[in-house]
Amino acid sequence: MRKNGRIHVPEETRAKLFLWCARHCCFCAKACTTNIEIHHIDEDPSNNDEDNLIPVCFDCHGELARYNPEHTKGSKYRNLEIKKRRDQIYDLYTLPYLRQVEIKISKYLHHVQDSTGQPKERHLGDISCTVRTLSQDIPIRLRLRIEPYPDNQRLKVDLGDLYSGIALWNLNPSQIVFGHFKLPISAETKPFLFRVVIFWSIVDVLDREHEMLPFSYVWGDPKGDWWFDPRTIGNNQLKPTK
Ligand SMILES: [Zn+2]
Repeated sequence: MRKNGRIHVPEETRAKLFLWCARHCCFCAKACTTNIEIHHIDEDPSNNDEDNLIPVCFDCHGELARYNPEHTKGSKYRNLEIKKRRDQIYDLYTLPYLRQVEIKISKYLHHVQDSTGQPKERHLGDISCTVRTLSQDIPIRLRLRIEPYPDNQRLKVDLGDLYSGIALWNLNPSQIVFGHFKLPISAETKPFLFRVVIFWSIVDVLDREHEMLPFSYVWGDPKGDWWFDPRTIGNNQLKPTK
């Protein structure tokens, strides 16, 4: 296979990756200070995709590229293993910057009360999505993608950038956002059964994205509210695959 020419890893990417591992080798985990370099996992020096890069010490860099397929002794480091090992090291040094949010789906405007003191209901089909950051100290950003399933069938509908995993939500410590999105729901919809699957990740102050497990909210009784369901349906990722 013909290899492409080397393209320098952009300065911004280098800075990010070195911060994510605090200049520790992402293979043997030793502290490196200046004795660290960036290895291209697929060995294509023009592929500077973040997922293709791993900061390693000089010893490990030699080790990763050394395996000789002609002499099949031992076990080659496979790309999947290398990436998972790297992510373990990134987690070690970035998890201290991870802060959680609470995401709640409801038909109510919980912060607005009617004359009887009950929370006000939104119009049918206008769904509340309340996001509350549990951080008391540092800001985070949220990537959120909502997939609607009326009667368990995937509905392709544009919910806007903030609910399609495209735009990030800037969230400051202790912030609460009363968001909403629209779904084609009327009182006549039969069967009256809706699910939204919520895919989400948190981007920390070092720009590292931590993907969380998806979950659902379900609504089956127009008089009741949406309820939390830890299950999902479908088999989709947060980000569309390339
Ligand atoms: Zn090393």
